[in-house]
Amino acid sequence: MEYELVPLHRKKRIALVAHDNKKIDLLEWARYNKGTLAEYDIYATGTTGRILQEELDLPITRFQSGPLGGDQQVGAKIADGGIDFLVFFWDPLEPQPHDPDVKALLRIAQVWNILVATNRVSADFIISSPLMQEPYMRRVPVYKSRFLKLDDKE
Ligand code: PGA
Repeated sequence: MEYELVPLHRKKRIALVAHDNKKIDLLEWARYNKGTLAEYDIYATGTTGRILQEELDLPITRFQSGPLGGDQQVGAKIADGGIDFLVFFWDPLEPQPHDPDVKALLRIAQVWNILVATNRVSADFIISSPLMQEPYMRRVPVYKSRFLKLDDKE
């Protein structure tokens, strides 16, 4: 696998998503880190974003609610290179109507090698890392060769 080095934005673009049983966790985490989050561009799925906006008065770009396509919108933004850090507190104990979207979001974050935190301890460690403030080159897999092979068949 080839990689290219892509600089992480200094002003990080962070997407926040929490399943219903995890929304309090995310709210507490965001409240604790409000000052830090205010320095970044924040995106969120619909209900998560509304709660955070109401409680914390943070400017947030909101997508649709997760089950209505919000997870897919976050995924599309990741694929476009528009998200540096996904904080996704998903619920391992509750089936979701949009389970395929949940899996797809985690998958696309992995495809593009972005920062991901799926629980509070990971989110704490990442948000407080000195690397968040420093220039950092992210290794992004180069998938072009896959498409070249497809083209070759034509
Ligand atoms: P919500 O979506 O923020 O609209 O609740 C989160 C999700 O279920 O993915």
